[in-house]
Amino acid sequence: MKPYSKLTKEELKKLKGQLEKQFEEVKAKGIHLDMSRGKPSKAQLDLSNGLMDVLNGDSDLVSSDGVDCRNYGVLDGITEARKLLADMSEVPERNILIYGNSSLNVMFDTVSRAMTHGIMGSTPWCKLDKVKFLCPVPGYDRHFAITEYFGIEMINVPLLPTGPDMDMVEKLVAEDPAIKGIWCVPKYSNPTGVSYSDETVRRFAHLKPAAKDFRIFWDNAYSIHHLYDDKRDVILELLNECVKAGNPDMVFKFISTSKVSFPGSGIAALAASRANIEDAKSFMKFQTIGHDKLNQLRHVRFFKDMPGMYEHMRKHAAILRPKFEKVEDVLEKEIGGLGIGTWTKPLGGYFISFDSMDGCAKAIVAKAKEAGLIMTGAGATFPYGKDPKDSNIRIAPSFPTVEELAQAAEIFVLSVKLVSVEKLLG
Ligand code: PLP
Repeated sequence: MKPYSKLTKEELKKLKGQLEKQFEEVKAKGIHLDMSRGKPSKAQLDLSNGLMDVLNGDSDLVSSDGVDCRNYGVLDGITEARKLLADMSEVPERNILIYGNSSLNVMFDTVSRAMTHGIMGSTPWCKLDKVKFLCPVPGYDRHFAITEYFGIEMINVPLLPTGPDMDMVEKLVAEDPAIKGIWCVPKYSNPTGVSYSDETVRRFAHLKPAAKDFRIFWDNAYSIHHLYDDKRDVILELLNECVKAGNPDMVFKFISTSKVSFPGSGIAALAASRANIEDAKSFMKFQTIGHDKLNQLRHVRFFKDMPGMYEHMRKHAAILRPKFEKVEDVLEKEIGGLGIGTWTKPLGGYFISFDSMDGCAKAIVAKAKEAGLIMTGAGATFPYGKDPKDSNIRIAPSFPTVEELAQAAEIFVLSVKLVSVEKLLG
């Protein structure tokens, strides 16, 4: 089939009639599918059921350094959990601070602490007239929700295939002391799957921000979440690059085992310079006497070490891979070459990012909903929910089964085609 833009008005009208008929047929099937969030499927969760067995009433519940994990104490995490999360974060153990069950929670706390108490002795952000964050777009809606919640002004920065537009980042942070941070998902980014190039990471490490309390919020949520064994993205480790560049305090790295073990029941951590870790601890000591050490212990007993975790991630990949490939196949077969959309083919992570013709994304998501398919709301991948081109849609293939995905993809491409034809007809 020719690109839609090359069709005559008559051809478009005829096509619209055919597509509407197909759409009514699909609608009549009464499908109910939710592809809105990047949740692991039941089969993926089952991979970690052993976590429930490694500890029981007969287990030795004492950590390697003699701490009874049933009791109070150990603010920064038991030694073996610090080692595991430090290895996962590719930093020395002295640069890791273990938190609770969610990295998003650590990010929220970090922004909250900067608002109320400032970072390492600098003026609390709440006392400043204006605080701004750079937001590579499209990006993760919950990052944007945190900064919006605190009234921080968000500035869009285009996300290129190599990472954020660094010319823009360098210029803005150097000029404007109100810019205090940037949200980054450096590997298998949510939602594009983009991984930052070495040059981008190095340019981050060499930033010269006007604000001395500027921090890079480096959310490495998908650090070991590859889809393939033989094709994978590798990124430079930022903390080390920052140390080499003489900017050791400029980065907060966030990580969790959410999509390794059980989301919401995993372990989260902050990786940063010792000065940043001490600053975070000075706040944390008022929040808690210590996080869930039994959870830390069972994770280490279950995974043992990074090779154990990599092995486990291969099992996740075996479940996820056919799902991504199914969606990509349907997109290619049904709309490849029609000029009505482009999409990413990530090597890892949890999402495929789709860009429709300008001004169509909201209508496509609404159309899909009519046929029983719930997608992430259009606009969610931009600060304030406002996609200036109304074109980006996040596809989350992880949760449905492959069979359900085939149905979901059929509804999606039909919605894209219909809305695009309507747009071209004006
Ligand atoms: N960061 C990114 C980029 C995510 O995509 C997600 C979940 O989808 C999270 C953080 C949530 O992490 P956690 O479960 O550790 O709070």
